[in-house]
Amino acid sequence: MSDEAFVTLATNDGYAKGAMVLGCSLRDHHATRNLVALIGPHVTESCRQALRSIFDEVRLVDVMDSGDAAHLALMQRPDLGVTFTKLHCWTLTHYDKCVFMDADTMALSNIDELFEREELSAAPDPGWPDCFNSGVFVFRPSIETHEKLLTFCADNGSFDGGDQGVLNSFFNTWATADISKHLPFVYNLSSIAIYSYLPAFKHYGRDAKVVHFLGKTKPWCYAYDAQSGEVAGRPEGPDSGRLHPDYLQSWWRLFATSVMPLLQRAYGDAPFDSGVMQLGNDDKLHQYECGDQTAAVTSTAASAGVTTPPPISSEERKQRWEAGQIDYLGDDSFANIERKLDSFLK
Ligand code: UDP
Ligand code: MN
Repeated sequence: MSDEAFVTLATNDGYAKGAMVLGCSLRDHHATRNLVALIGPHVTESCRQALRSIFDEVRLVDVMDSGDAAHLALMQRPDLGVTFTKLHCWTLTHYDKCVFMDADTMALSNIDELFEREELSAAPDPGWPDCFNSGVFVFRPSIETHEKLLTFCADNGSFDGGDQGVLNSFFNTWATADISKHLPFVYNLSSIAIYSYLPAFKHYGRDAKVVHFLGKTKPWCYAYDAQSGEVAGRPEGPDSGRLHPDYLQSWWRLFATSVMPLLQRAYGDAPFDSGVMQLGNDDKLHQYECGDQTAAVTSTAASAGVTTPPPISSEERKQRWEAGQIDYLGDDSFANIERKLDSFLK
């Protein structure tokens, strides 16, 4: 249905990687609605190109540039920059109804049924269940609602400094008025909830529909060994290691299989730090930045395009490919596959 859409937001290349995985996860589960990515001006052209091949619509939102109510509100509250950008989703009035999903979420099954819900439907927040978590919510785009939200935000600020505080204060009857607006928890399952109530996770976790990598350390802050198919790096920081390993692994598998080829095509010959690497015997410590965190991984090479794995036979390469050990950065790179295809087609 073209009058309904899944919407996400990315203001930088890190969150853009998250958005790409989210978009692929929705496509893999045959989402029947349009996919929209709102992006900020700092998202690079290569990432925009990759996003455009996944999403139906990639729309630049620059609240500093807009000269409208959003700009004015932001002038009063520069601390709420990303929040204002997220509220922009209400301006998508060419859609009747939308489901917003944070760029750090991933669909585990088809979730089209969310469009049967009304604004504002969301799942409880694991930290304070009388608040909803704003990582997944159903809303109706409306310029009127957008303006009210901006005024509210500029006047009252946010009790948590982000969009969740503003939205909970604005839609303040969510907890009590209408139970149909409470999405089941499985539509926004975060690791924090998993670890704080493990028996419940064991009992209900198999029904999980959306996983949310809530918190400071995001999946793209880790690294992934394409050779073994394992998550390799572990960022330093207080809440690192708190992501559920199975979901983290699924995120990276999707990134390596569906997103990497798009990024390789977008970047061409230019090197880029994807987090996907080939770990070898030469245990060199590699450090890289993710937001304000530093991650450390041992590897021979840590960015795409600079790997020098030992040569292997074509038979061994085939075996590795069939075992899912695909050398995205070397022999099995998109450019090589394309060249092979071209030679067949000729
Ligand atoms: N976001 C963004 N850039 C940022 C921070 C946040 O694009 O620098 C967007 C992104 O869609 C993200 C959402 O805002 O998923 C909410 O932030 P985050 O997921 O980091 O918050 P958490 O869910 O961990 O509370
Ligand atoms: Mn989030």
